[in-house]
Amino acid sequence: MEKREKLYEGKAKIVYATDNPDLVIQYFKDDATAFNAAKKGTVDEKGIMNNKISGRIFEFLQSQGLPTHFEKTLSEREMLIKKVQIVPVEVIIRNRAAGSLSRLLGIPEGTQLKSTVLEFCYKRDDLGDPLINDSHIKALGLATEEEVKAIKELTLKVNELLSKFFLKLNLELIDFKLEFGRYKGKIILADEISPDTCRLWEVGTGKKLDKDRFRHDLGNIKEAYQEVMQRVTA
Ligand code: ADP
Ligand code: MG
Repeated sequence: MEKREKLYEGKAKIVYATDNPDLVIQYFKDDATAFNAAKKGTVDEKGIMNNKISGRIFEFLQSQGLPTHFEKTLSEREMLIKKVQIVPVEVIIRNRAAGSLSRLLGIPEGTQLKSTVLEFCYKRDDLGDPLINDSHIKALGLATEEEVKAIKELTLKVNELLSKFFLKLNLELIDFKLEFGRYKGKIILADEISPDTCRLWEVGTGKKLDKDRFRHDLGNIKEAYQEVMQRVTA
């Protein structure tokens, strides 16, 4: 397998072509952004930690029968993945209120929700990734009804599996964001799952072990990611 040209550089990762048209390499950077890139910075070795964490989580989900883009870890910062056509919709699951949901609905951070909330955001940096619903997705032709159904089912399954997975590591999965793609006619889980894309609170202490440490300048960002990495890879 040979690394070829850069295909796309995003805020946290770079995607490279390979000599296999079905596979690409995802390279994890140390760059961090928040609030639609209004806040920018870097976290030393974040890319290394997220590559490890995301790899381990995708391996786990794959072992539980979930279709994902993960092929294998190639190096400290690189992962080989199936090349998908990304559905331009971010899927968010919320088990407790935090972040934008707390702001949107005036619910204090940490409020336990009576049932799981599933949100969609249109993946459009220029619009600030606005909140949308199923009918917007259909009206804009972002995904078919069948695809939306598959995405919802997979997302709820990920929540079930990962909530338990993290609880065993003494971490509570507060919320997370997923991206899906089309691969050979099927919807599979893509992108990354890491402290950049999940809120993880330590059980008992409520200590935040995720990107909120960067968003709100809580300090010890690297240590928080290290802690998650150690638990996930133990
Ligand atoms: P962004 O700033 O757009 O969020 P990232 O820094 O997260 O970008 O880089 C990853 C990019 O690659 C994202 O646009 C993501 O949607 C896309 N991507 C993730 N997984 C795959 C995949 N399996 N195939 C192709 N593109 C992918
Ligand atoms: Mg991204």
